[in-house]
Amino acid sequence: MTVTTRFAPSPTGLLHLGHAYSALLAHGAAQSAGGRFILRIEDIDFGRCREEFVDAIEEDLAWLGLEWERPVRRQSEHMDDYRAALDRLDGMGLLYRCFLSRKELDAALSAPHHQPMQGPEGPVVVDADRLMPAGERDGRLAGGEPFALRLRMAEAMAKAGPVGWTDDRHGEQAATPEVFGDVVLARKDTPTSYHLAVVVDDALQGVNRIVRGEDLFQATHVHRLLQALLELPVPGYSHHPLLTDAEGRRYAKRDRSLTLRALREAGRTPDDIRAMVGL
Ligand code: GLU
Repeated sequence: MTVTTRFAPSPTGLLHLGHAYSALLAHGAAQSAGGRFILRIEDIDFGRCREEFVDAIEEDLAWLGLEWERPVRRQSEHMDDYRAALDRLDGMGLLYRCFLSRKELDAALSAPHHQPMQGPEGPVVVDADRLMPAGERDGRLAGGEPFALRLRMAEAMAKAGPVGWTDDRHGEQAATPEVFGDVVLARKDTPTSYHLAVVVDDALQGVNRIVRGEDLFQATHVHRLLQALLELPVPGYSHHPLLTDAEGRRYAKRDRSLTLRALREAGRTPDDIRAMVGL
C-alpha cells in the first residue's frame, strides 16, 4: 500500500516553527516510504480564514523544499461531501438538532441538578435537544433559526462497537469518545465541523498515515468512531510532541518572530529551519 501522508493547516495565520516541524515530519514519512504527500487547506472557519494565509502557506512550504500533489483540496469547496456523510449518519438516527448557543448550554448545564463534566472541548453536552421543550424546538425550526447537528454519542458508540487505533508513539489505544459528549458535527455557521471534515477528507484522499501534533491526540478518539460509523479505512497515527520555546510555551500564531516568513526575511535558510526543529 502506498504510504500517503498530509499536512492540513487552517489558513488563520502565518506558519511558524511548530508547523514546519509537523509538515517536515509528514513529508519525510511519505518520502522515506516512496509515498504521496498531500497539502490540504482546512478553511471551514469562514470568519478566521484568510486568502493571504493560503498563499503564504504554499510559499513557505515551497521555500522549505516540500513538494505536494496538486490540485490542493480546500475544504470550503467540498461541502457536498460533508453533507453526504451527515445524511448517512442522520439516516442511522444518530444526529439531532441543537439550537442552543454555547452560552445557553452553559447556563442550562450549570443548573443545580446538572453536574457538567469537563471534556476536551469544554463542558460535556449530552442530549442537548432534551434541554428544550419540543414545542420550542419546533418554533425555532419554523422560524428559520440556525442549529448545530450533534452526534448522539451513546447510540453511536453502541452502533460502532469498540474502536481503537495503533499510535506510533503511544501504542495500542482504545477509543473513548464519550469524553467529548454529543460532539458537534455541523456548526450553526458552517455545515460541517473539524472532526467530520477531517475524517471524510482523509478517506477520500487515501491518507493512511496521519502525522500530526499531540494537541490532536484527543480528537483521534472521535475520528476513529466516525470512521467506524461511516465504514472508512483505519489510518495509522503518529502524534508527535509539540515544539516549545525557551520558556516551555507551545509555539503559536502570535509568535511573530518565529514565523517562517520572519525567519526567512531575517536571512535563515531552509537548512537552518530543519536544524532549529531538530530534523
Ligand atoms: N487543521 C488542523 C489544524 O490546523 C489540523 C488538522 C489535522 O491535522 O487533523 O490544527
